[in-house]
Amino acid sequence: MALNLESIYVDLHQNPELSFQEFRTAQVVTEHLTTLGYEVHTELGITGVVGVLENGDGPTVLLRADMDGLPVVEQTGLPYASTSHGTAADGTTVPVMHACGHDVHVTALLGAAEHFVENLDTWNGTLIVLFQPAEEMGGGAQSMIDDGLYDLVPIPDVVLGQHVTPLLAGMVATHEGVTMAAADSIDIEFHGLGGHGSRPETTIDPVLMAASFTVRVQQVVSREMAWNEQAVVTVGRINAGTKNNIIPDHATVGLSIRTLDAGLRERVLGAIERIANAEAEAAGAPKPPTITYVDSFPLTINEPSATAAVTAAFIDNFGPTAVIDSGVLSGSEDVGVLAQACGAPLVYWFIGGVDPQLFQHVQGSAGMPADVPSNHSPLFAPVIQPTLQTGVDALVRAALEWLG
Ligand SMILES: [Zn+2]
Ligand SMILES: [Zn+2]
Repeated sequence: MALNLESIYVDLHQNPELSFQEFRTAQVVTEHLTTLGYEVHTELGITGVVGVLENGDGPTVLLRADMDGLPVVEQTGLPYASTSHGTAADGTTVPVMHACGHDVHVTALLGAAEHFVENLDTWNGTLIVLFQPAEEMGGGAQSMIDDGLYDLVPIPDVVLGQHVTPLLAGMVATHEGVTMAAADSIDIEFHGLGGHGSRPETTIDPVLMAASFTVRVQQVVSREMAWNEQAVVTVGRINAGTKNNIIPDHATVGLSIRTLDAGLRERVLGAIERIANAEAEAAGAPKPPTITYVDSFPLTINEPSATAAVTAAFIDNFGPTAVIDSGVLSGSEDVGVLAQACGAPLVYWFIGGVDPQLFQHVQGSAGMPADVPSNHSPLFAPVIQPTLQTGVDALVRAALEWLG
């Protein structure tokens, strides 16, 4: 019954699916988990799958993989490159690629799931393997919880997960405490009163509100934060109007916010809302702006003592030169939602995917050439081995810290 992980990986890589559309991937996962003997729950958060394997008394460990691909045209030139397409939220047909390596995560978690079935005498407790939709949109983990995840499976004592990254394959990276930034995407629609461009006195101009807001919101970082606090407030989009001589009745501003501290995040979001409301008030707008949180990623915070235990296990398993400190990353993840929702500690780490054969002179991530494609690049191409084996071994070894 041994799983052929490399062929599973190639199949998943050739058949990526967009967020909340991972139906085929979920089917592949469900079939393997069922064959392995897991109690399987499906359609959590539309496509999420969770398997439970009980093996006597002991702790409960949740291992998590995300499943979604991205709307990217694959340009890796690999013989198993994706030529798949999907339907975006706006109804258009888009190319799809596993440009973030979530196919690595799914395959490695299936490998770990098999390992624990075949080695029942080496562990005690309950293993939960969770395959999550829509990490890229930030709503996948919450949608599984909203669909009753923790009513269906035991509350875990720890949540463990991993991400493939531009680090030499065979290496792993951990970090204690805040490891990835919180990210919030916000749309603010200013409401005005439309009219003729020649008669501004008959209108309330939302374009001016949006412009004024965009300038003033820069002061959140420059004037409301201390010298040692970090945040990014970016206005990446302004949409308004149809014609030069028409003052429109609404204007929309799209923001992206990154923060590394929960209290600071609340302050920054509060300041943005305050400024948006005040701009509308100052302009005499007919109603306050409509503020919509489009997506939201929490801070990824690795619980220090659990992370120290996992790091020690990795050093024992992979050797001291193969384990480094990842530091704090500016990217974002929703894996923390699975831990926060049940009060369990989180340990989330990174595994390398860069072919050591190509960069034999490189030692560790600090020396990685700048032209190594990063996640979300159309050229992102993790080498199959030792990436998959490292992913399986890391999940198994980390889980055994509780189950062993
Ligand atoms: Zn990604
Ligand atoms: Zn990812």
